[in-house]
Amino acid sequence: MPENDSVMRAMTDDGAFRIVAARTTDTTQGVIAAQKLSGAIAHDMADLVTSAVLYRETMAPTLRVQCIVRFDEEAGQLIADSHPDGWTRGLLQQGSGSAPPNIRRTRATLEMMRTLPNSDLHRGVVEVPESGNLSEAFMRYMQLSEQIISMISLGSVAEGENPTAGGFVVQLLPEATEAEAAMATMTKRLEDFVEIRERLQQSDGSPSQLIEQIFEGMPFTWLDSNDIRFGCQCSELRVMTTLSLLDRSEIQELVDEGEPLSIGCDYCGTSYAIEIAQLQGLLSAS
Ligand SMILES: [Zn+2]
Repeated sequence: MPENDSVMRAMTDDGAFRIVAARTTDTTQGVIAAQKLSGAIAHDMADLVTSAVLYRETMAPTLRVQCIVRFDEEAGQLIADSHPDGWTRGLLQQGSGSAPPNIRRTRATLEMMRTLPNSDLHRGVVEVPESGNLSEAFMRYMQLSEQIISMISLGSVAEGENPTAGGFVVQLLPEATEAEAAMATMTKRLEDFVEIRERLQQSDGSPSQLIEQIFEGMPFTWLDSNDIRFGCQCSELRVMTTLSLLDRSEIQELVDEGEPLSIGCDYCGTSYAIEIAQLQGLLSAS
């Protein structure tokens, strides 16, 4: 049976490690198609989308997160959103240059944001290393901003006949006894999992296979599994809410122009046609 995109969690029975692993192949293909990306930027978008899914499942499974790669020199940014319902989306905001930014040539930061239960935002920023490696940037963020020791690997093949995307986060848990020895064992084992693209292609991205391979020989318990998919929560209602924030004079101008408004969602490409009568409704409501 072909795999569907999902994210799974498991924990070693000695309480030392937790793992979160995701398959994001179809989700990232949806994002890449909606954003019309190709080449290196498609690959980076795939890794960022996987980061957003893993970050949410690791830190705040029931709350939404956003991850942003912000390029220096006004070269634009990549954004990925992950929602507790499983829908995930991405956006390339092109900078002043005509070519898409390249994370291996242009310096960039990785910003991770998650909503807290009281609706405040937790936000942290790290430099992306010069290699442009997002797995390393994500690990650096987890250590510096969340104080959690994690080993992270992201892998994606964005184009071609056998696209794949996914990754994992292995965390050392605070309850771990003999933490140093456990870390040494896991670090050695994960040397084979730094580069996971081929592994993902061979297993159709299966997160359960990835977890079984990483925890091989260690008793562990499956914790949870959730579906992941490409999707956007835009709606006509949201478009109208945004329009209602405009000044009355601006809305009046749109009414006077006498043409229905066509507003497209930058994330998913859905187009919303707003009739003059709806704009007039905003004027009478305010
Ligand atoms: Zn949308």
